Amino acid sequence: MKILVLNCGSSSLKYQLIDMDTESVLAKGLCERIGIEGSRLKHQPTGKDDVIFNDYMEDHSVAVKMVLDALTNSEYGVVSSMEEINAVGHRVVHGGEYFANSVIITPEVIKAVEKCSELAPLHNPANLIGIDACEKIMPGVPQVAVFDTAFHQTMPERAYLYAIPYEYYEKYKIRRYGFHGTSHRFVSEEAAKMLDRPYDQTKTITCHLGNGGSICAVRNGKSIDTTMGFTPLEGLVMGTRAGDVDAAVITFLMEKENLTPQEMDTILNKKSGVLGISGVSSDFRDIEEASEHGNERAEMALDVFAYKVAKRIGAYAAAMNGVDCIVFTAGLGENSASTRRLICDYLNYLGVHIDSYNNSLRGKAVEISAPDSRVRVLVIPTNEELVIARDTKELLDK
Ligand code: ADP
Repeated sequence: MKILVLNCGSSSLKYQLIDMDTESVLAKGLCERIGIEGSRLKHQPTGKDDVIFNDYMEDHSVAVKMVLDALTNSEYGVVSSMEEINAVGHRVVHGGEYFANSVIITPEVIKAVEKCSELAPLHNPANLIGIDACEKIMPGVPQVAVFDTAFHQTMPERAYLYAIPYEYYEKYKIRRYGFHGTSHRFVSEEAAKMLDRPYDQTKTITCHLGNGGSICAVRNGKSIDTTMGFTPLEGLVMGTRAGDVDAAVITFLMEKENLTPQEMDTILNKKSGVLGISGVSSDFRDIEEASEHGNERAEMALDVFAYKVAKRIGAYAAAMNGVDCIVFTAGLGENSASTRRLICDYLNYLGVHIDSYNNSLRGKAVEISAPDSRVRVLVIPTNEELVIARDTKELLDK
């Protein structure tokens, strides 16, 4: 079975074609600037040279069509015809309270995803456009939706309710949803396998640290709390997002600087985080480099970031009444030994000890805790596309 995994953004489309017999990636790629001048498709067939197409992509339908043409091309394609593609798995950002699992896409599912668009106005409409494009170009091919929020639907009320008047939850569904669920699910499952422990009897804290970052408390295979909330803005200090701030700061700043809600939103989402503190960059590599060269604000940004992560790990160890294993994943979590070290140095009280050599390894799943560490610490490369493909296959097999 071959499954096409799609991740549609407002002007982009990422794809992978996965052969589920071997779980290997046959090709992957990215369409950028869809509907904007200068669109391009970068197609990367496994074992062949990358190809770049600079044709204009008017909309997502054109992009999907170009992707299918690339996948079936006799020279740089990886399948002989579209009929070889058995199903499409879509990443959908927000499933609201409707979806706790992945589902086969039906007209009812589309209606529910539309209803969630208000909660994710930048993402869900783009995801829907991708689904619609596939229905037009590959009619009859089953499509599956895999939600970023679904894994966190197991959070209890005490974790998801905000202490604002309850009527706003009832009226607008304002509550904590959490994101990166597909990644937290994948790495927590992988961790249990690596440690040879039953997933449903393990307390894991997963740290997805990329440009956006979130931590999840996974108790016995279920998310019981996570740092992102109503939107991906809550929680950790991120590349450009502020994470938790006293809500009073927002009204104070809006008054002082005469800001519109939109301008305030831009400050909190795009100009804050480690970029805001350091003034250097949103990219942790740049900040680490600046810090090494003595830039004090860059050093402070890294310190604020790591301190916040460590505090949340402590909070989740308390929430689960213990922790067996901590997992680092995503761009920063997988690649930055110094950030992992900074965070773990705060966790001695939990009995966390890091093995410096293993912590310096890159690019593969590895245990970085020392043999005497009371909590096992792992680095596991995340693979959201594989989860989407696996869920799609499982639903089709049923
Ligand atoms: P996204 O949230 O966009 O999916 P990623 O998971 O790709 O992000 O993570 C991107 C972040 O990972 C960037 O901010 C980058 O600084 C960081 N990163 C990647 N490689 C390294 C590295 N070797 N050292 C430090 N940071 C890294």
